[in-house]
Parts: sequence; structure tokens; C-alpha cells
Amino acid sequence: MCYAIPGVVTAIHGRQVVVNYFGESRQALCELPQVQPGDYVYAQGGYIIEKVAPDFARDMLETWNDLFRVLQERDSALSARPDPEPRDRPLQDILDKAGAGLTISREDLRYLLTLEEPERLERLYRTANAVRHLHHRNSCCVHGILELSNYCACDCLYCGLAARSTLTRRYRMTRDEILDAAREGIEGFGFKSLVLQSGEDPAFTPAFLAEIVAEIKRRHGVFICVSFGEVGLDGLDLLYAAGARALLMRFETSDAALYAALHPGDSLEARLSHLRHALKTGWLTVTGGLIGLPGQTVDSLADDILLAGELNAEMFSFGPVLASHRRHDLTPVSESQMLRALAAARLAAPPQAKILVTTAFETLSPQARERGLMAGASSVMLNITPLRYRADYAIYEGRAHATESIADQTRAVIQLLDRLGRAPSDLGVATSAPAQPSNFQ
Ligand code: SF4
Repeated sequence: MCYAIPGVVTAIHGRQVVVNYFGESRQALCELPQVQPGDYVYAQGGYIIEKVAPDFARDMLETWNDLFRVLQERDSALSARPDPEPRDRPLQDILDKAGAGLTISREDLRYLLTLEEPERLERLYRTANAVRHLHHRNSCCVHGILELSNYCACDCLYCGLAARSTLTRRYRMTRDEILDAAREGIEGFGFKSLVLQSGEDPAFTPAFLAEIVAEIKRRHGVFICVSFGEVGLDGLDLLYAAGARALLMRFETSDAALYAALHPGDSLEARLSHLRHALKTGWLTVTGGLIGLPGQTVDSLADDILLAGELNAEMFSFGPVLASHRRHDLTPVSESQMLRALAAARLAAPPQAKILVTTAFETLSPQARERGLMAGASSVMLNITPLRYRADYAIYEGRAHATESIADQTRAVIQLLDRLGRAPSDLGVATSAPAQPSNFQ
């Protein structure tokens, strides 16, 4: 099993490299020394992460060749835009605009976020899936997430790991445990992209975390995304210098007053300063918010989606707020509320952005992964935290995949992707795809 398909380098312009996959060209940044035209490489998240031995790459490509085309055809057949419904204006006008890859306005987005009727929602989902196909073809990136510690100094009022949560079992992985778990995910299960995550654990200094990142990068060709909370701008710089290239940091809500009410002692501005600094210094960002927060309005949810776009997120991460050891008095979010938000986000997002099916959504609904992927999403995460710790990373209750082995999770996701015609890879936006204007007005 591998979550990356080798491509061949066809051109190099400084750090920019053109990689060809089955006749399609993609751009990637190369930070490896001695990459030449004709070399086979793995790319993830728009970065060349590893050179691949030519014989091995040719074998892999031969294996993938027929399968890739079968998957492409299956995905194309499943991604057709729905028949137009000219009597249903203004919805049809918005779907036509988005389906042609054009900008949708904030008003359009608000309109989509208020749809209720199942038949109209279905047309929204199918259009979002068609737009996903237009920009990302059949690529679906599969990340392995490793949760290092469930200690947290913050007290976010919805989170089971919060300092004042009633959660009793806390854990902190040792350096060796982290390196072993990373190796198992990379070498044992073929992950090419790891997300390292933890609560804001005071015992994990940015210097310690950066050393771990550097050691994983020294040992393996892998793309690393980090999610350690507000480590400070210097902390971000340390992690970037160590080799991390993506930052997963959700702003949770774009409403500053709501943010302050939910995050005692913290401010939206402090959060955004990390994301803006990351953007300025070359990180890829994964960001988004919570859906179903008490006090959240359609306007603020529309602004959340637009903010993720303004932050030029590589991936949008929106999940439902769920009951946790910190808070039980929440109105449950419905599956269709989530799908509607994901599909609307797909239509409003910049073309290169992927939409993630979050574990929180999978916790809400057992069909979330399949339904999310068919409503515009193109990214999933599998949990590679050792089973002895996994259930204790209880951000919310009843977390999906808490007791499932990595082997079972990979088997299930491969079967699903096969059924949907998706290739478990992160090829990025095709350079041959039509240029798309920004979807933000
Ligand atoms: S949401 Fe993150 S920062 Fe807030 S309490 Fe939970 S783990 Fe800590």
C-alpha cells in the first residue's frame, strides 16, 4: 500500500520542478539536492519528498498504470454534474457558476448554507463533487495522524482535552515512542504524509518538537504537518527550519466575540497571527472551524469558509462540535448540516484547496467519509496513534477509529477509494487544468 505514486521529473526551474504522472504535468517545490530531469520522485503537498530508485518506480508505475485509468474512469462517471433545474433560480445560477469554475459571492455562499430540501441539497453535493473532480481529478490525499500527548494547558470550552475537562487519563509519548510510531506508519503502512498533533502540552517545548520533526525527516522521506497549537511565531520558525511544511491550526470561528467566549484567556487575533505568519513564511496551512457552535449564525459560518480561503488554506478542515468531557449541553449537528457546509466550502474554496473529511464528522456519522467524498471532499486522515493511547485522545466522546488497527483502517479506506474511483495520492492541481480565478469576492 502506498499513498503516493512516483512521477518523473521533466523540467527544473530553480526550486520549481515539473513532474509528469501518466501524461499529466504537476508542479512541485524541490528541496532535495541532486534532483535531475529524468529522476523518479514522490511528491506530497506540492513538495518533492523523496527520490525513488528507477527500477522500483517503473514497477510501481506498471502496477498503477491500468489501475489508475480504471479509477479515473470510475471517478469521472461518478462526478457528472446534475441535470440543470432551470425553474429553481437562484440555486441553479449559483451551481452553474461554480460548476464552470467561476467565482461565487458571499451572498451565494449564504444562500447555499440555508438550503434544506433533500433534492436541492443533493444537487449541491453533486455539483461540489463535480467541482472537486474539475480541480483535483481523482486524487485523494491520505494522511496518517499521530497524537503525541493529550495534556493541554488551554481550556477551550468544548474540548475534552481542556485543562479543566473531567478526562482522567492523560498520556505523553516519549521521543522513542514517537519515532517508533512514525516509522511504523511510514515503513509499515506506506504513509507519505504525517500529521503530528498534540494538546498545548507545556512539557513539549518547540525545541523538543522541532528536534522530533528533524529526526523523522532525517530518517524518512515524508511530508510533515504539525498541529501543536499556539507555539509562538519563533516556535513556528523552529518547526519550519526542522522540516515541517504544513501547519494544521483551525481558527474555529471567525467571530471574534464567539471565539473569546469559547477560549478563555485567548483571542482570535493571536490565533490568526500564527496562521498569517505561517502563510508569510512559506508554510502550507490547514485551517477551518467548528460547525454547530452555540451562537453561530449563517453569516458567521459563511465568514468562516471565506476566512479559510483568505488564509489561502491548502486544506479546509471543518468539523462538527461534539459533546465531550468538557461540555455536554450541545445541540447535535446533523449529517446534512455538515455535508451542506463541506459542499458549500468546495464551491467557495480556491481551486487548489482540498476539503478534509474530519474524524469528528466520521464520529457524527458512519457514512461521513463516503458521503463527504461524494460532496466535494478530497482528503482523509487515518489514525496511526498507538492503540494503547488512542482512545485517550478524547477531544470529543465516542471518537471514530479509536480502537481500529492501522491495518483495518487502511483496508477500509482503500476499499472505499477503489469503489469511488479515487487514487490514494496527493498529485496536486494539474498544471494542464484550466486556470481558475479566485473564488473570493
Ligand atoms: S482545542 Fe486544542 S488547545 Fe483547546 S483545549 Fe483542546 S487540545 Fe487544547
